[in-house]
Amino acid sequence: MITLSQTERTIIEASIRDIKDFPKPGIIFKDITTLLNNKEAYSVLMNHLHQRYKEYDLDYIAGIDARGFIFGAALAQMLGIGFVPIRKAGKLPYTTISQKYALEYGVDEIEVHIDAFGDQKGARVLLIDDLIATGGTANAAATLINQTGAVCVECCFIIALNFLDGIKKLQEKTEVYSLIEVN
Ligand code: AMP
Repeated sequence: MITLSQTERTIIEASIRDIKDFPKPGIIFKDITTLLNNKEAYSVLMNHLHQRYKEYDLDYIAGIDARGFIFGAALAQMLGIGFVPIRKAGKLPYTTISQKYALEYGVDEIEVHIDAFGDQKGARVLLIDDLIATGGTANAAATLINQTGAVCVECCFIIALNFLDGIKKLQEKTEVYSLIEVN
């Protein structure tokens, strides 16, 4: 299984910008726009993901609204497979299934089209997002994928906030791969 080299990790990590106190005091926001507009870092990242996941015999990539769309759609095209958006409630036009999940204050909801992963059961799906924090969003997304009859074979994150328990919870459900770990 292909993992990131130290040189690749250094290039990607250096391209991510920390924004203090966004969107509220106490949060350090991991800004990946500086990765996307850095052609070397973006290319190192996407080539690595391509090398790793071409061995996985995947049928679809599912990306989480909205930054998961950027990496997920690019990767799906490189692998020659389909891309499925998992969206915030109320955005998808056809019949959906949905999952609610807890936020620090209140709840949120995500949805996927009921037929997004085709007619055949057991489609192999990689779920991707830019970052895992509490894991609430990714857990709900993995549950949705499995509810359609497809299988979430792995969740991939560019950044994992390891001081939160998100990954541990998600690992009870599926494999998890993260490139940059923040302790
Ligand atoms: P969670 O459900 O708590 O794992 O939150 C994950 C979602 O929130 C992802 O879609 C991230 O894009 C976003 N997110 C949470 N915390 C941060 C952060 N510190 N920096 C950037 N994005 C974040």
